[in-house]
Amino acid sequence: MDDYGYGEAEQLTYQTVLAFARDRVAPGAAERDRTSAFDYALYGELGALGVPGMLYPESVGGTNASTLAFCLALEAISRVDMSLGWVLWVGAGGARSMLRGSDEQVAAWRERFVLPMVAGETVSAGGITEPDAGSDTAGIRTKAVRDGGEWVLNGSKIFISNAGLEHCAFVTALARTEDGFGLFVLPTGTPGYTMGPPLRKMGLHSADTRELSFADCRIPAYHLLESGGGGRQQVVGSGFALTRVYLASQAVGLAGECFDLSLEHARGRVAFKRKIGQFQHVQAMLVDMYLGLETGRLLRDRAARMSDARIPYIKEAALAKLHCTEMAKRAADMAVQVFGGLGYMDDTPVSRYYRDIRAATIAEGTSEIQKHIIAREIGALG
Ligand SMILES: Cc1cc2nc3c(=O)[nH]c(=O)nc-3n(C[C@H](O)[C@H](O)[C@H](O)COP(=O)(O)OP(=O)(O)OC[C@H]3O[C@@H](n4cnc5c(N)ncnc54)[C@H](O)[C@@H]3O)c2cc1C
Repeated sequence: MDDYGYGEAEQLTYQTVLAFARDRVAPGAAERDRTSAFDYALYGELGALGVPGMLYPESVGGTNASTLAFCLALEAISRVDMSLGWVLWVGAGGARSMLRGSDEQVAAWRERFVLPMVAGETVSAGGITEPDAGSDTAGIRTKAVRDGGEWVLNGSKIFISNAGLEHCAFVTALARTEDGFGLFVLPTGTPGYTMGPPLRKMGLHSADTRELSFADCRIPAYHLLESGGGGRQQVVGSGFALTRVYLASQAVGLAGECFDLSLEHARGRVAFKRKIGQFQHVQAMLVDMYLGLETGRLLRDRAARMSDARIPYIKEAALAKLHCTEMAKRAADMAVQVFGGLGYMDDTPVSRYYRDIRAATIAEGTSEIQKHIIAREIGALG
């Protein structure tokens, strides 16, 4: 990798995780895509490598790595398997907010939720989207009502990643409360918690996506993570900023692999007695990919570094998410083009990348929503 000013620990993380991705993740990625299977043993190996615990303190078995280092790990994995990277950042993120809870909460959740997640034995899911409320998160209808020492949740969620995985321990669910919104820790075995069959989708086949419904789900009062208006604000503000940088990192990884594969193909494939890389139209695609990647990396790195420095980065996260995911979508499209007919065949990785990346400009706030945020942050609304 060229010099982007990464520290020693960050470079080592990237190289270690990339070696793991090439050696252990890549060989089965096409087959997992074909069968929509999730490989629990492989996720366990990722846990043994310490990746799910990178963002957690040493006191719970984590390595206290920087956001940027975790982003580089995600980038490395997404070079070969976008589904696994998706499960990872959704799955390892949920318990982080638990560590910000009260002493009572942290003590109650440490053994049950945090330690197994850090070890890669369990994952979490995040339940925001509902059939009638996606971009407009304020329109959610799931309700939480206090009843003595418990909260009672009723409602439904849709397109929820990870929820159907056997080792999914809980969903952090956004619900309406009497005085605003709340973010709740809802364990997957709670009576009244049900899920639909896996949703069939265009790509990300080995990442699970479900509809959930909650019918009188009772959870202890301390399972409320954030209350009042703060619940929604936390999710749509700082929570989303971070996950947008994660998704931008997945996009940089996938686009990087599309570029490398396309370059290699352009240097070898012959047409009209010349290497196709000698044709200017093919060169233009390669240069477009390269430029998008370079600018995407800079935007992603800046947002991740601001997160590490605890500087507000809502705008920078939106810029990184918008640019990187749109850029990777184009890169995958151009990679299919550079490969010609071969690019359309499922035996070629770029065909899978083309399908997988399509979700990235929709989830965690669509591209249109990112533009709305950026417009607001640069003062365009007056
Ligand atoms: C693979 C995948 C995994 C997902 N995983 C999760 C998950 O784990 N948890 C979760 O909670 N959700 C998840 N989602 C849902 C995702 O966050 C929503 O799909 C997304 O926020 C968009 O909401 P929507 O689908 O309701 O679209 P809508 O909000 O109905 O939007 C439809 C169109 O209208 C546009 N639009 C809407 N409002 C505006 C506006 N104000 N200005 C301009 N354009 C606008 C949108 O940009 C879009 O083009 C996932 C989605 C996918 C595809």
